[in-house]
Amino acid sequence: MADRPALKGAWTAKVITLFPEAFPGTLGLSLTGKALDQGLWRLDPIDLRLFGEGKHRNVDDTPAGGGAGMVLRADILSRAIRMAMQGRPDDRARWPLVYLSPRGKPFTQTTARKWAAADGVTLICGRFEGVDQRVLDHHRIEEVSLGDFVLTGGEIAAQAMLDASVRLRPGILGNAASTEEESFSNGLLEHPQYTRPATWQGLTIPEVLTSGDHGKVAAWRQDEAERLTRERRPDLWEAYEKLRK
Ligand code: SAH
Repeated sequence: MADRPALKGAWTAKVITLFPEAFPGTLGLSLTGKALDQGLWRLDPIDLRLFGEGKHRNVDDTPAGGGAGMVLRADILSRAIRMAMQGRPDDRARWPLVYLSPRGKPFTQTTARKWAAADGVTLICGRFEGVDQRVLDHHRIEEVSLGDFVLTGGEIAAQAMLDASVRLRPGILGNAASTEEESFSNGLLEHPQYTRPATWQGLTIPEVLTSGDHGKVAAWRQDEAERLTRERRPDLWEAYEKLRK
């Protein structure tokens, strides 16, 4: 994304991938895309292939111990990581170094908040059977998962996590208040939303929302948020109740 201006010290995502052409992808659209164009954040895809060996720039080999598939080589991936982390803070809180992996800690809104508060992040997208364990151990790489399912590569996971993080940075969303009221920010799922037309398919908007009584609207939204969370996410509800006590 060299053609985009970058404000000095702008929050930066470095993404090590065999498919740099997958970026910015959806991150180039709408609010995250506009912010990228304005240099409010930076996206640097790093092509792992460039670090490969031989005529075909090989980056992988067969798994030790046998079995199906291929594994990304530690030595090759390590070169890309060293380049990506050069001049970046060694403190992982200021600059998380992450391998996207179904074995990782699940990504949540809390993770997004932590990343958004850092100077930037470096994400490693795996392919095939994954990466050599030694490179994870050697570079103190944290594993983070998008969820309990297996993707063919880390690129979609990287975009999802970057989207969730970047939108929390100041100046990215038009209306900053919207990140304070949405799902997860207060431990609850969001209340239902409605807009015009007032009647559609014989269905009307809950009366309280058109009453103009802000206190009643707030109370209704809180009740609905609690109801939905209780019904759909007993795990979140339990944590919320504990916090309230
Ligand atoms: N053999 C591995 C899966 C490899 S999937 C295993 O069973 O754990 C190939 C790549 O896709 C992984 O290296 C990882 O970078 C990415 N990936 C797959 N599922 C993912 C998920 N749920 N979250 C984040 N990344 C994922």
